[in-house]
Amino acid sequence: MTDLSCDVVIVGAGIVGLATGLALSERLPGRRFAIIEKETAIARHQTGHNSGVIHAGIYYRPGSRKAKLCVEGVRLLKTFCEENAVPFENCGKLIVATTEAQLPPLQTLLERGTANGVPGLVACGSERLREIEPHVRALRAIHSPETAIVDYGAVSQAMARQLSARGVQIVTSARLLAARESNSELHLTTTGGEVKARWLVNCGGLHADSVSRLLGVVPDVQIIPFRGEYYTLRREQNVVRGLIYPVPDPEFPFLGVHFTKRIHGDIEAGPNAVLAFAREGYRMPIVRWSELLAMLAYRGFWSMVARYWRTGIFEMYRSLSKSAFLRALQTLVPDLRLEDMRPGGSGVRAQAVGRDGSLVDDFSIIAAARAIHVLNAPSPGATASLAIGKHIAGLAIENFELK
Ligand SMILES: Cc1cc2nc3c(=O)[nH]c(=O)nc-3n(C[C@H](O)[C@H](O)[C@H](O)COP(=O)(O)OP(=O)(O)OC[C@H]3O[C@@H](n4cnc5c(N)ncnc54)[C@H](O)[C@@H]3O)c2cc1C
Repeated sequence: MTDLSCDVVIVGAGIVGLATGLALSERLPGRRFAIIEKETAIARHQTGHNSGVIHAGIYYRPGSRKAKLCVEGVRLLKTFCEENAVPFENCGKLIVATTEAQLPPLQTLLERGTANGVPGLVACGSERLREIEPHVRALRAIHSPETAIVDYGAVSQAMARQLSARGVQIVTSARLLAARESNSELHLTTTGGEVKARWLVNCGGLHADSVSRLLGVVPDVQIIPFRGEYYTLRREQNVVRGLIYPVPDPEFPFLGVHFTKRIHGDIEAGPNAVLAFAREGYRMPIVRWSELLAMLAYRGFWSMVARYWRTGIFEMYRSLSKSAFLRALQTLVPDLRLEDMRPGGSGVRAQAVGRDGSLVDDFSIIAAARAIHVLNAPSPGATASLAIGKHIAGLAIENFELK
């Protein structure tokens, strides 16, 4: 890269950074925008390692950012896919209660989803749910017919094509290393050269807290990486048709291991949620000592351990034991067999954790003098990406004298 100068630089070419570039360039066509990405290609981390579900917006507290931006995001994303020839499938989803104790939380989910404006949600009894998924054994379920699947890598490629058509430069192999401010301008040092920008949007995903520190903002959260591991079901098994989810633990922001149909036809089971020892720790043995030590030095990490150690140990055990993983899946589909499952891929979630050990549930986006920082954009961040981008563009126009 030869040295670059622009009005706003976006750090991170995951789906949130790309969607932010689209929203900014649409609202301010006369301005210069660029996206810098440390990897050699776009969408290499969370965006390229997720379940590929277009979530309908059922789980999230009414009025929260997640609820609002997810429901708006679904609409924007499906329209974007139609306009850009990115295939998606409205395959629908079941959330199933398998015990009496899960019936009240299932009802709460139905009420939340309805309050959030999710279209088509219905409760169904065991007979109807067996028509949809013949091998599921459950007492009751919610059916969400508009939940869909897509390849977020393909969505990101389509976003990148649109950005380049609008003259927004995406510079890969450019890791932000340092930033200083002089004469109302940010001077950024990257592995690909120098960048000058008046403002910055931090969409650094797993490294968003470190990027914010480079910009002089000490966040009140730290990103803790949670790996999600998948199994792929053998093609010839025919016990699962589409998306089957359990009733999630309300204490935990993750959805519990479930079945997901992929847009290319595979069925995956997972992801679990295992503490990772590196922010890009896609496999158990990967340890990055500097990141691990920073995690251990964070007070919020120990408060989190004190709250969730039982769940954490169980997740590690289930990560090591295929039989334990199978048992969790068999609570949804008893006919599944060990030999139907072969190891699949994995992804690492960027989960912001507060100093009190809480797993930050809502999206967290903060505005500082010269920068906006996306500090928590876990699932359904890919679904909501275009709505998050619009929200950030609005904040940028308000905060950056960008009109
Ligand atoms: C296992 C798993 C399953 C999920 N399933 C779903 C799902 O089904 N549906 C859904 O809606 N969401 C899902 N999500 C969440 C979704 O993937 C994320 O919300 C979304 O991808 C976040 O996008 P992002 O752009 O913020 O982060 P990322 O995709 O991680 O992008 C951040 C980018 O910033 C770059 N970067 C970091 N630091 C620097 C630096 N210093 N300089 C330059 N570049 C830098 C990184 O290389 C990376 O490319 C899932 C996530 C995981 C991990």
